[in-house]
Amino acid sequence: MITKREVKPISHRQKCSKCEFYTVFQTVPVGEKAISTCTHCQHMVEIPWDHEIKAAVKNKEKFLKNLEELYPELKDLKNPGDHISLD
Ligand SMILES: [Zn+2]
Repeated sequence: MITKREVKPISHRQKCSKCEFYTVFQTVPVGEKAISTCTHCQHMVEIPWDHEIKAAVKNKEKFLKNLEELYPELKDLKNPGDHISLD
């Protein structure tokens, strides 16, 4: 019997290494790993899914939160597909 854990995707903001925009990422667990997907260009990054993942996402959010002071447009990153370029 396969028991499936119900885990909601974690949405968080991140700079995408592919499209180089700051975008909304969605992270979902896949077995022992998690897949983070850029909702703008669909670039996928594999990351370990462990108890530290929420802390890691929180740290990224903290980093982005600090950047908001310099780039208020980061606050507009809310929905899948949202993307902005900072420079
Ligand atoms: Zn991207």
